[in-house]
Amino acid sequence: MVVEEVDFHSLSPEIILKYLPGKDCRNCGYESCLGFAKALSEGKASVKDCPEMAIMMSESLAGALSIKLEVHEADASMNTTSDGLIELNSPSEDSSVLITGNSGVTIKVLKLIFSNTPNASAFLIPTETKGFTIDHAAGMRLMTPMTVMRGLTSSAVAARVNHHKMIIPGLCAGIEKQLEQMTGWTVEVGPVSGFELPAFIIDKMEKR
Ligand code: SF4
Repeated sequence: MVVEEVDFHSLSPEIILKYLPGKDCRNCGYESCLGFAKALSEGKASVKDCPEMAIMMSESLAGALSIKLEVHEADASMNTTSDGLIELNSPSEDSSVLITGNSGVTIKVLKLIFSNTPNASAFLIPTETKGFTIDHAAGMRLMTPMTVMRGLTSSAVAARVNHHKMIIPGLCAGIEKQLEQMTGWTVEVGPVSGFELPAFIIDKMEKR
């Protein structure tokens, strides 16, 4: 049985548009980048049709858009992961550090997304959200500066990276200032949609 209670916020035209070149040059055959973004979100166009896009971003968007996600009843049960630190696509010392909850289904979906987007690597830290997915955990305010700090410490990720920067889920915005004070790390609010994470990471890499 497929269930719909878990909202994974798939890629909308507005999200896709953020990662297109923004030239409105029509070389893709659409009137504007927004028109192309709409066609991509509806599965009516291929990312390859934009010749202006950098290859890493193009492959990342194509990978995220190709995922057809079905969440089944057994998946949506309140199972938790016991992993303290998850490596997505062989991260290096300058890879991003992503904070998420400890829902088993969240971890499963994020692993699936990154397996389809091999250009984006990251360290993923599941923190205590009692098995709730981020949309529910955010509503119940289960992700707090204290739970993130505990997850960060127990993951020992600080020994694996050459920076002190973390990305928290967009739905958990509001905890960043206190979290920075408690940990000494720089906190960036990331996307609401997990499907956006690879493009978000690659965009940061390209702007370095
Ligand atoms: S080819 Fe790329 S940059 Fe040009 S309009 Fe289409 S999406 Fe925008």
